[in-house]
This record gives sequence, structure tokens and C-alpha cells, in this order.
Amino acid sequence: MKENALYLSTIGRVLDWSRSNSLWYTTANIGCCSDEVLNTLGCRYDLERFGSIPQVDPRQSDLLIITGAVSYKMAPHLRALYDLMPSPKYVLAVGSCANCGGPFAPEISYSTAPGVDRILPVDIYVPGCPPRPEAIMDGLLALQEKIRG
Ligand code: SF4
Repeated sequence: MKENALYLSTIGRVLDWSRSNSLWYTTANIGCCSDEVLNTLGCRYDLERFGSIPQVDPRQSDLLIITGAVSYKMAPHLRALYDLMPSPKYVLAVGSCANCGGPFAPEISYSTAPGVDRILPVDIYVPGCPPRPEAIMDGLLALQEKIRG
């Protein structure tokens, strides 16, 4: 029995390791942070060396990268996008707007959600307005660590 437990634990670790090194992502670029995300995805920072490849179809994505403030009108569409993704799935919130509403926070705008975590389960928050590409890359590496446990 103990041998089986050890075997399953090892399989789980291998699966987690392989998942963490093949995070295919789709993006929901709603705000101006999207320029920094696109910069991070480009050849200078080269996320593909970490096994992260862009996907247009959310049904083939493990990771959703969100930038910008999410309005309540937009929320159901974002949720529908997330629901299309197969499990296990992860969310990276990039920038102050996605994290907490930023300059469009509810005290200022009645139509903006105070963070995308009110709509989706966020795994990693990347702070900044806008965050630098290094910070976004750091967020991806933190997510890999989290998946590996
Ligand atoms: S955090 Fe700043 S840079 Fe990013 S979307 Fe909001 S206002 Fe734009």
C-alpha cells in the first residue's frame, strides 16, 4: 500500500512538473498594460524558453493572462472565456487595474470591478502600473513554482 502511495505521489509530481513547463496561454488584454504583456511575449524576453506558447483558442490554454480594469458589463464574457479552458487552469492578473481596479477603482467608477478576483480565481498577482516585462516574467515563474508545489 505504501509503495502505491509513493508511486502515485511521484506520478503527481511528474505531471505537475510537466504542466508547469508547458503553460500555454491566452490573453485578455483589456487595458494599457497589454503593451507590456505583448513586449514580454516578444523575442527579447522570449517566454517560449519556459515552455509558454500563445494560443488563440482558450480550449487549448492552461493560463489566462488578464490586464486592465474589468467592468461589470465585461465580467460575464470574461467568465465565459475562463469556463472554456480545460482544467487545471490558471489565471495571472497583470497590473493594478486587474489586481484591484487601479485608477478605475469602485470609489471612482461605479462600473468597474475592484479586481478581477471578484470574477475569476486568480493564482498570481503582478503589481505595477504598468508592470515591467521582468515583473510579468517573474509572475510566470512564480506560477510555475506554485504548480510544482
Ligand atoms: S495598471 Fe496602469 S498601465 Fe495597467 S491597465 Fe491599469 S492604468 Fe493601464
